[in-house]
Amino acid sequence: MKLILLGAPGAGKGTQAEIICDKYNIPAFSTGNILREAVKNETETGLKAKEYMDAGALVPDEVVIAVIRERLEEPDAQAGFILDGVPRTVAQAEALEQMGVDISRVININVSDEDIVKRLSGRRVCETCGASYHTIYKPSKQPNICDRCNGRLIVRKDDEPSTILARLKTYHEQTEPLIEFYRKRGKLAEVEGAEDLSETTARVAKVLEALE
Ligand code: AMP
Repeated sequence: MKLILLGAPGAGKGTQAEIICDKYNIPAFSTGNILREAVKNETETGLKAKEYMDAGALVPDEVVIAVIRERLEEPDAQAGFILDGVPRTVAQAEALEQMGVDISRVININVSDEDIVKRLSGRRVCETCGASYHTIYKPSKQPNICDRCNGRLIVRKDDEPSTILARLKTYHEQTEPLIEFYRKRGKLAEVEGAEDLSETTARVAKVLEALE
């Protein structure tokens, strides 16, 4: 099973990726998490990515394509995977095709801009493992502590209100065209992102059951 999760930032891609990962026992690759780790460790990739990420802009395609190429060559990627937050441009989607990656399904989680702003402002992420939470929709069991690894929950720097609007603009201009890209290839499944998380999970599960 090789899946792509599409959707605006905060649509719930990371949360659904975690759920699918546990259910099907396949890894999820989030370029956002990989890049944040690179920034934290001040690697060469991290140094190239930081200013774009802080501004809510996309990291250049060649940097992201190199990151994902390397990740997909790892042994744990061979049986299947979920791509969360990549591709984000048509150039990245074309690069995946050129790598010979045969995607089973692309799930687009659709959420209005108004709801995205509400969701991102309540989002908290684990600074250790990257798991995501929401103060209202998906609270952790203990305040500010990750259920998975006991790491500390923080507000992402790019979830500040001024950056959220820049990220939404970037999404509409550069990532939304991928919906048509994958529709034309007959790969697209559309899911309405519900306020109730379990509702979205049930809709995604239906799409995946059709693939089994
Ligand atoms: P995310 O955690 O997916 O919201 O990503 C956080 C930030 O990392 C984005 O706002 C971009 O700056 C960068 N990023 C993550 N994935 C990509 C990608 N596929 N292409 C370009 N930039 C990316």
